[in-house]
Amino acid sequence: MNKIEHIGIAVKDLAEAEEKWAKLLNTLSYKRELVESEGVITSFFKVGETKIELLAPTTANSPIQKFLDKRGEGIHHIAFAVDNIEAKMKELANQGFTLINETPKKGADRKKVAFLHPKSTGGILVELCQDL
Ligand code: ZN
Repeated sequence: MNKIEHIGIAVKDLAEAEEKWAKLLNTLSYKRELVESEGVITSFFKVGETKIELLAPTTANSPIQKFLDKRGEGIHHIAFAVDNIEAKMKELANQGFTLINETPKKGADRKKVAFLHPKSTGGILVELCQDL
């Protein structure tokens, strides 16, 4: 793992959360991106070397909506940058971690991403991401 690439935060109302986080970080969101396959709209803030990714649901059966129903707003996942996502997935699977994705998929912000199941990481949804 190279660094924490971003921290994903589940929010109900993207515009309201953007306003709050812009104040908190003293910087504006630099982009919004819709990830249609996941039913989520994202908004990114730069914080030094890393980013905050706000995630709001766009459909009722979005995984983010399910998360909000179950746990409410808050930290949704931690994303680590890796150089070779396929190799890292294999390595972690061999070490006993459970992968949610068998192959990487296309994430927001021009990344290939894959997730580790929170059951195998002590309750934290972990995202691996590699620049495309
Ligand atoms: Zn993410």
